Amino acid sequence: MKSTFYSIVLASLLMLSCKPTQNTVVTAPPSHDKLLMSVAWYQNSAEMMALYYQGFNLATQRLDEAIKADNQSKPLAMVVDIDETMLDNSPFEASLINNADNLSGWYNWTSKASALALPGSLSFAEYAQSKGVEIFYISNRDDNERDVTLKNLADAGFPYATDDHLLTKSDLSYSSGNTSSKVGRRAKVSENHEIVLLIGDNLNDFSEVFEDRSINNGKEAVLKNMDQFGKKFIVLPNPMYGAWEKPLYDYRDGLDDAAKSKLLKSKLRNE
Ligand SMILES: [Mg+2]
Repeated sequence: MKSTFYSIVLASLLMLSCKPTQNTVVTAPPSHDKLLMSVAWYQNSAEMMALYYQGFNLATQRLDEAIKADNQSKPLAMVVDIDETMLDNSPFEASLINNADNLSGWYNWTSKASALALPGSLSFAEYAQSKGVEIFYISNRDDNERDVTLKNLADAGFPYATDDHLLTKSDLSYSSGNTSSKVGRRAKVSENHEIVLLIGDNLNDFSEVFEDRSINNGKEAVLKNMDQFGKKFIVLPNPMYGAWEKPLYDYRDGLDDAAKSKLLKSKLRNE
C-alpha cells in the first residue's frame, strides 16, 4: 500500500513538474524566424537609409521636372503609400518574429500612432507642399484606422494629414474586385488632380498592371514598364512583406513557418 501511495505521489509530482514544460511547448506562439534577417536589415543597415534617400532625392528631381513641364489644367498631385513608404512599421514586424500569431497586434500598433517617418520622407513631403503639390495618401489600412493614421502622420510632421487626403482600404478598393487594389482610389484622385508621381514599396502602389503576380511573380509586367521606374514610379525597399510573398507560397493561406521555409527553399535558384 505504502509503495502504491508513494508511486501515486511520485507520479503526481512528475506530472506537475512536466506541466509547465508541456504548457510552454503547447502555448508558445509560433515564431516567424524568416523575418529576422529582413527586419534586422531594415532597422540597422545604412544601405536601407541610403535607398530611402535615393528614392526621395529622385522623387524631388522628378517633381521639379513635372512642375517645370506643367501644362495641365488640373492641379498637380502625387500619390504616396503610407506603410514602409512614409511611416516605419518595422517595430511591429519585429514583434512578429517571436509571436507570429499576433493577430490583433497590427491594430494595437497603429493605435499607438507612434510609427516614425522614414528617411527622407518628411523633407520630401514638406518640399512638395512648398511647391503647392498636394499629397494623397492611398493606404490599405482599414477605415477604422483612419483617425490613428491621420494622428500618426500629423504627429510625425507630415503635411496634408487631413481626411480629404487619406484614402483607406474600404473607400473604392472593392470596385475592381480586388480588395487591396488601389485603382479606384487613384482614379478618384485623378478626377480633380494630375498625378505626376507615385511612391510606394509595393508594385500595387503604382498601377493595376502589377496586380497579377501569377505569371513569373509579376516580373513580366515590370519588364514591360521598366521605363517608368525612377521616373513616374519611385520604388522603396521592403524585404519584410509584400505582394511578392503570395506567389512564393503558391497563394496558400495559413502555412506555418516550416511550410513557408520549405516552399521558399524550393523556389531558390541554386548554383
Ligand atoms: Mg506599403
